[in-house]
Amino acid sequence: MTAQHRIEPHDIFNQSPPYEDVDLFTSDRALSDAVQANGAAGEADALSGFGRRWGAAAMFDAARLANENTPNLKIFDTKGFRRDTVEFHPAYHGFMAESMKAGLHASTWTADGSRAAAPSEVARAARYFMVAQVENGHMCPITMTRACVGALAVEPSILHKLIGKITSRTYDASFRPWWEKDSITLGMGMTEKQGGTDVRANTTTAMPSGEGYIITGHKWFMSAPMCDAFLILAQAPGGLTCFLMPRFRPDGSVNALRLQRLKDKLGNRSNASSEVEFVDAFAWRVGEEGRGVRTIIEMVQLTRVDCVISSAGMMRMALAQALHHARHRTVFQKHLADQPMMGALLADMALEVEGATALTMRLCRSFDLAASDANEAARARLLTPAVKYWICKTAPGFIYEAMECLGGNGYVEEAPLARLYREAPVNAIWEGSGNVMCLDVLRAVSREGEAARAVLADLVRQCGDLPGAKEAAAFIGKTLSGADGEAQARAAVERLALLAAAAALSNSAPSVAEPFVRARLLARRGGTFGTSDISRTEVTMLSERALPA
Ligand SMILES: Cc1cc2nc3c(=O)[nH]c(=O)nc-3n(C[C@H](O)[C@H](O)[C@H](O)COP(=O)(O)OP(=O)(O)OC[C@H]3O[C@@H](n4cnc5c(N)ncnc54)[C@H](O)[C@@H]3O)c2cc1C
Repeated sequence: MTAQHRIEPHDIFNQSPPYEDVDLFTSDRALSDAVQANGAAGEADALSGFGRRWGAAAMFDAARLANENTPNLKIFDTKGFRRDTVEFHPAYHGFMAESMKAGLHASTWTADGSRAAAPSEVARAARYFMVAQVENGHMCPITMTRACVGALAVEPSILHKLIGKITSRTYDASFRPWWEKDSITLGMGMTEKQGGTDVRANTTTAMPSGEGYIITGHKWFMSAPMCDAFLILAQAPGGLTCFLMPRFRPDGSVNALRLQRLKDKLGNRSNASSEVEFVDAFAWRVGEEGRGVRTIIEMVQLTRVDCVISSAGMMRMALAQALHHARHRTVFQKHLADQPMMGALLADMALEVEGATALTMRLCRSFDLAASDANEAARARLLTPAVKYWICKTAPGFIYEAMECLGGNGYVEEAPLARLYREAPVNAIWEGSGNVMCLDVLRAVSREGEAARAVLADLVRQCGDLPGAKEAAAFIGKTLSGADGEAQARAAVERLALLAAAAALSNSAPSVAEPFVRARLLARRGGTFGTSDISRTEVTMLSERALPA
């Protein structure tokens, strides 16, 4: 029923109530089905509690505060000593504390830094997916902390020294040497002014000195600069090498990370992203000299997965906001959701989110199983860049369409859609932009062709009787290994992600797999949402799954 409030000089009616105080887990059938299908059914009750906590009105309001009150750079202390710190709004710290308490920064690692048993990836992904619906900025250091552990594995002496502080669930925002703190977070600095994709062109240098190295140079993007240590790349005598640079030197003095300024960003505003210079800064070597790119690969993969989860989560929130509004808003004597064109549009959008959600959780299942199953490892290797390409690129346009479902109400800052819309593009740009993802798929196909072919065959098998899967796999295989593979790669990689989504849906939501294949693999969706061939029965089914009436 539409709420009516009498305030002078006019009645307010036909505005949708705020979308808040919801259980972000149980209200999302696509998510709960995908969690169940990917080995984490036992987490359902805990996830529902988590979903209620993060779906509370207070959380949405804290997210607004954290993003309206952006971080400030404080270069000096009151006596003029360099500290190079950043001040955040208490709401940001509140989110850090919540996410760390839930283990989002480390729950996939054991106390000795090895991988936690399945379904730790899927269980964490489900939580991350819900957090991403509320506040994304603070998830940057959360993501980097968990991903960096993957790279530190090559340097057990450092990992063992730090892992207890990394896995601690008590957030400690104090600016002190890492050994004095209850917990630490980790960041990364790879991108320099002359390039982020081509890190081999890094100009920052590293010279051996005492128990570590002296680093001189800069980074053009180094986010969350209040992390306690950063993985960086620098040119050592033996070539490009990975290092871990702490905020404090071993003697307890502040290390020479000179923050130059904070980026004025399109979105991701609660989080600070810095430009930094290293003036003879201290760092430990991670991995052998000259093996820098090899050393960071595991970290890069894990970061990409989080970009996927985050974008899928934001799409989910945008869909929920659009559906919720359309069910309350009346236009021409009918609820918007019941207008045939709006119903078809919302169903097409729900279909997209179904595919993105199933695919995301299935990808995380591969990370859960990769250590014990070579096929799952190959699947994670081939599909991570493909899925990042498709989902992270889809999110901005999707969120825009959701915004339009709310009309002018969607365009203003009070609705979270404006913030989601600004936030979304970073996931596609960061840690490998679109073309780079396609190049990475090509690399996997050319270096591990047999494994890639086995993954494609698996996807077709998992699609069962669904039409179009075999043809899609043939197109993907032929295009990616063809003479003009690089120029055609976007078409093939997009098709690969769609095929993988169809396979994932066949397992977690069979009733959705059929319309998904019809509207995404057999016929291609038009340039906008709402152009797919979806029956009336399917419109009702998709709408009910997306949000209980
Ligand atoms: C909000 C934000 C936070 C960030 N935080 C961090 C951080 O904490 N640490 C960090 O190290 N970096 C960070 N980055 C940087 C980010 O990782 C880089 O911007 C990204 O890797 C791309 O590098 P680049 O900007 O140098 O673009 P470039 O490498 O110049 O690429 C530009 C474009 O060219 C395309 N391209 C590149 N090579 C090819 C090719 N061979 N063929 C076809 N196309 C190609 C790319 O896909 C891209 O679209 C952050 C960026 C943002 C926006």
